[in-house]
Amino acid sequence: MAGLYIHIPFCHSKCAYCDFYSRPRKERQEAGLLVEYLLNELSSRNNEANEPFSTVYLGGGTPSSLPVKDLDTLINGIKSVAPATEEYTIEVNPEDVTDELCDFISSSPINRVSMGVQSLDDVQLKFIGRRHDAKTALDAVERLRRHGIDEISCDLIYGLPMQDIDSWRDSLSRLLELGLPHLSAYLLSYEPGTRLSAMLYKGKVTETDEDTAVAMYNLLIENAASKGYRHYEISNFAIPGHEARHNSSYWNGTPYLGIGPGAHSYDGAIRRVTRPDIKGYLKNRGLNCFDIEEESVDERFNDFIITSLRTADGLNIEECSLKFGERYCNEMMVQATKYIDSGALSLLSGRLKIDERHWLVSDRILVDLIR
Ligand code: SF4
Repeated sequence: MAGLYIHIPFCHSKCAYCDFYSRPRKERQEAGLLVEYLLNELSSRNNEANEPFSTVYLGGGTPSSLPVKDLDTLINGIKSVAPATEEYTIEVNPEDVTDELCDFISSSPINRVSMGVQSLDDVQLKFIGRRHDAKTALDAVERLRRHGIDEISCDLIYGLPMQDIDSWRDSLSRLLELGLPHLSAYLLSYEPGTRLSAMLYKGKVTETDEDTAVAMYNLLIENAASKGYRHYEISNFAIPGHEARHNSSYWNGTPYLGIGPGAHSYDGAIRRVTRPDIKGYLKNRGLNCFDIEEESVDERFNDFIITSLRTADGLNIEECSLKFGERYCNEMMVQATKYIDSGALSLLSGRLKIDERHWLVSDRILVDLIR
């Protein structure tokens, strides 16, 4: 079964760390047109994944920045063109979680909400350009629950400017106290072209040093484990049975169709990207707006190694051999030997895995295993 991703390329404003494709929405009419053209694109490319969809993910950008009326049109359009059977997720920002949005979600097929909280420290939130404060985020969780929406995931970021280990502990423990079924936590990365990377370049912020980042990561995995979460991917934690199915499809090679400016697709062999250009997208009514991304066998092999080894299930050696041939697999295993000997990697029941404690610094291992 395949996944369907819909990219909403609008945000109220740009966060300082974000390099996802998004633009400010100019007017109400633009949202209506976008939805119409997203459905155009979906109808024209619906068969590309070659399989029915089991998951739908509305991401961005900020899907909750769309008026509820347009979200409703979008969901109804998706349902009629590409009904998914298992999971419908919507990304929301805390300041958008109104009673109207909650009423819409609870009466729609959406059965999972992913909310960008990032921190529960108001000074940090303001510094990175978020529009909500801690109270708004906590109130949003409560409001969702009051409307019977319990399948909630929240995102946190660690290694933020002005965040020390105590402040990270505070945000993390307050969020874990909520007893949500899912948590995503990312180490801040300074992506080229973002406001934060410009500030780093000018010396206005300093990057969290590796020892502190590792201490924050260890705090995260210990606290999440003590609350019963399973650490199933480098940045993702779930109470067993509440893992995000849609995101898992990116890590296990399941085909997915990405619709909307900036969205990526993979049909099992070919990757496509819808051009990150909202003007061109609206002009062409969402049609023929994608490019094919040529990928060599080595690039596909590297993607497979990197995504597999960042999950708790690890890399299936037999699958690797079948997909890329024994030579690729054997050469990778030769490189893996020293890490198996040191305990950073384990090989059990035909699966190669990076030990959870080494996930944060896994790049050093991965660079030796890829081609
Ligand atoms: S982090 Fe989310 S809300 Fe902020 S600019 Fe990026 S996509 Fe928009």
